[in-house]
Amino acid sequence: MKPLLTVEHLSKHYESRRGLVERLTGVPHTVVRAVNDVSLTVAKGEILGLIGESGCGKSTLGRAILRLNEPNAGKVVFDGTDVTALDPLALKNMRRRMQIIFQDPYASLNPRRTVAEIVGLPLKLHGLASGEEARAITARIVERVGLKANQLDRYPHQFSGGQRQRIGIARALVSNPEFIVCDEPVSALDVSIQAQIIALLLELKREMGLTYLFISHDISVIGYLADRVAVMYLGEIVEMGPVDDVLANPRHPYTQSLLSAVPEIEPHGRKPRVRLKGDLPSPLHPPSGCKFHTRCPLAIDICRTLAPVSENVGPGHQAACHRLAEGVSLMSETGA
Ligand code: SF4
Repeated sequence: MKPLLTVEHLSKHYESRRGLVERLTGVPHTVVRAVNDVSLTVAKGEILGLIGESGCGKSTLGRAILRLNEPNAGKVVFDGTDVTALDPLALKNMRRRMQIIFQDPYASLNPRRTVAEIVGLPLKLHGLASGEEARAITARIVERVGLKANQLDRYPHQFSGGQRQRIGIARALVSNPEFIVCDEPVSALDVSIQAQIIALLLELKREMGLTYLFISHDISVIGYLADRVAVMYLGEIVEMGPVDDVLANPRHPYTQSLLSAVPEIEPHGRKPRVRLKGDLPSPLHPPSGCKFHTRCPLAIDICRTLAPVSENVGPGHQAACHRLAEGVSLMSETGA
């Protein structure tokens, strides 16, 4: 199937600011490689889950795809159009079709605007409707996400966290987009509310024919709703494939460690969790070779010097690890 979205070798790097001491001593700028050479596709109607620890670059990737953060290199093609080459006006028009639902339903809504103003803003920005027509469209989408039309003139602080996220969803959908970056849309919510929001997003996807890039640090959420999954570590995709295949047969040690933390979907029954050494390294000073080598129990000498390339390990399933051919698994090697 022809992809709706194609991301080719996308990178987003930041130059870290130098403090006074660094400037006086001539320490050079440090480049933070938040997203590094990422390629992926999303088919129309598909949910691609993007999983990884906090700080691995997932949200930066989602925002770079929409050019909310301008990428430094690479290309994003949406429905045949090179989004990365669009001028500001064409990009604004494209944004009607490509939207985002943010993680934090508290910070992402302007506290001084009413629900009608927040949700109706994309209609105004894209010249889709105004006046009574805009209010009627806004009321319909607000009701569709589970709020009441008589709440249109209320302010965000008058709603619960789950209700605010519904407002954020209504704002993303009011311009009738085709592709949504769902940036950890349930992680700031109570567990009891998470299931309701996930069910709503799945219903809306079916009704409106939407395509999602669904970002989460929770592999059980991704396992529940995604068609395919991409696993991200320190700005790079280390494994990607059909979600059932990746969960049943994870090939990258990092994916294996993530799965071992979720016994109910661990493929070979309940086993002790594989605890990785240390925290995610800083993208300011990423490890050489395989970026996972400082925490990988399977690391060998070559891992410290040479970055592995992505290989096919099954239909539509790729992973990047020097030890794929040996078939070693973190579970067996660690005795976990
Ligand atoms: Fe571990 Fe080496 Fe594979 Fe990286 S390449 S995941 S360090 S075994």
